[in-house]
Amino acid sequence: MSGDETKPVTRYRRVLLKISGEALMGDQGFGLHPPTVSRIANEVKSVHDLGVEICMVIGGGNIFRGLAGSAQGMERTTADYMGMLATVMNALAMQSALEQIGVFTRVVSAIPMDQVCEPYIRRRAVRHLEKKRVCVFAAGTGNPYFTTDTAATLRANEMSCEAIFKGTKVDGVYDKDPKKHSDAVRYDRITYDEVLQQHLGVMDASAIALARDNSLPIIVFSLDEPGGFRGILAGEGTYTTVHG
Ligand code: UDP
Repeated sequence: MSGDETKPVTRYRRVLLKISGEALMGDQGFGLHPPTVSRIANEVKSVHDLGVEICMVIGGGNIFRGLAGSAQGMERTTADYMGMLATVMNALAMQSALEQIGVFTRVVSAIPMDQVCEPYIRRRAVRHLEKKRVCVFAAGTGNPYFTTDTAATLRANEMSCEAIFKGTKVDGVYDKDPKKHSDAVRYDRITYDEVLQQHLGVMDASAIALARDNSLPIIVFSLDEPGGFRGILAGEGTYTTVHG
């Protein structure tokens, strides 16, 4: 092996990747699209191959969102629990896709369901990461009225991650929706407070506040870009850093 091959290509040791449930549905508009799940699993593997310890939080919006259920007359907390269960299905799909390509993975749920996956026990999850297993944190925070963005920030703090990588459909945070406005401007860096004041919709306000209070950087990048996740960890490509 040459000297170059042993040079670290990333300064990150442990990170959390947050993706929405919708990232798993491909062009179907609903549910899980296995080829898309496999594509994202390969992106995760390419970073795992660098020796980076990886936590993941996947939303549930491709299956069920509590707010949508309550807007249609469901009791809100019940609808939120259904949303949390949706995230468990997505986590299991990701575990299956990762293990098919040889990446050992544990699904760790905030709501215990022993026959399906492990309950969340912080020390045990840390041990999995040290053993280079990908940990997919499922069932959000385990509490209604929260989102998986907040769950991602919570788990990233608990696991001492160096940053949250938020994989989206666009390559960063813009001053307005770049899909609707051709003159939208992307920020290279923006503060937590600017995101909150300008209602930029990077993550919900409680997630941003929790990241701010613990100085946890949020890096927003495009998950649609092949090799994008690995590139961003190496400091390449375009992205936005939300910082203090
Ligand atoms: N949810 C919840 N508590 C949590 C995390 C999620 O009640 O800690 C519910 C909530 O109803 C939410 C749904 O799970 O709408 C799916 O999560 P989210 O909307 O964050 O998914 P995403 O938009 O990222 O796909």
